[in-house]
Amino acid sequence: DAAINRIAAGEVVERPASAVKELVENTIDAGSTRIDVAYADGGKTLIRVTDDGCGIPAEDLPLAMSRHATSKIDGSDLLDIHTFGFRGEALPSLGAVGRLTITSRCDGAAASIRVAGGKAEPVRPAALSRGTVVELRDLFFATPARLKFLRTDRAEAQAITDVVKRLAMAEPHIGFTLRDVSGGGEGRVTFRAAPENGDLFDALHARLGGVLGRDFAENAVPLDALREGFRLTGYAALPTYSRGAAVAQFLFVNGRPVRDKLLIGALRGAYADFLSRDRHPAAALFVTCDPKLVDVNVHPAKSEVRFREPGLVRGLIVTTIRHALAEAGH
Ligand code: ADP
Ligand code: MG
Repeated sequence: DAAINRIAAGEVVERPASAVKELVENTIDAGSTRIDVAYADGGKTLIRVTDDGCGIPAEDLPLAMSRHATSKIDGSDLLDIHTFGFRGEALPSLGAVGRLTITSRCDGAAASIRVAGGKAEPVRPAALSRGTVVELRDLFFATPARLKFLRTDRAEAQAITDVVKRLAMAEPHIGFTLRDVSGGGEGRVTFRAAPENGDLFDALHARLGGVLGRDFAENAVPLDALREGFRLTGYAALPTYSRGAAVAQFLFVNGRPVRDKLLIGALRGAYADFLSRDRHPAAALFVTCDPKLVDVNVHPAKSEVRFREPGLVRGLIVTTIRHALAEAGH
């Protein structure tokens, strides 16, 4: 019910950026090739995510808005997850704490549903040629205490940008646009990444150049190593490349952006000989393994993971990066 959804929402949605994360992850799970994210006032008054994915059939719209309804797993094996979503909590949580409108078209006619402060309205016919538009207005209007914890529009917009860039790195074949529509109209494009072609390595290299800048892409060595079921790929910048205190560490586990202490520690270990007060590791690391070897289910926001064999993963990162830097003459 509404109260339970508001409590669950506190776990899933801390700030506008967490809403953006959930909505963009849904678009990726839906097989989208182009994703547009628009926000106003740091996402506090409006977040609108538009995709060209598979859409939601009109008759499933109420289900998508109900708690623990997910079309993605049958619930029997939480350790074997291949999609971003699996809890079925994001949409009901967002509908509990904000004003949510979903318009979508699958095979049949387009339809839309509105939920505000946990109260759903009936499904209505709508006009949309394909995909899904999710519009979230007035986040936390139903939980004013939450509003007080939000930071400035600028800081919240920065957090949104960070989320979108991380997901853009995870999905180089997908095109992303991020727009600030605070002033109305089409708004101002604050980040754009065209869909990259080619194999994943080439696409990733091109995408990293687009997201982190040419300097990073030109100063990075490719990584590719396999050890006992764990694969490490990505790029590590040469120690001569320094972003100073601007930390550029991008970590992904089975395609999910994570902020994991183990992985950050391993990265520092790999660069140990080169670190200084204004020199930090800069890298985009992708660890992939059988989903059974890692638990992504540690926290609802899903940015922490737990490996079955942390020592093995650490060793893989440290030796692979050291080796790659040595090969490059460092
Ligand atoms: P989860 O992602 O964990 O399944 P959500 O609450 O995020 O739960 O979404 C509920 C359901 O709504 C999803 O399982 C999916 O079927 C549907 N859905 C949400 N967003 C989209 C989208 N952009 N495109 C297609 N289907 C979507
Ligand atoms: Mg989801």
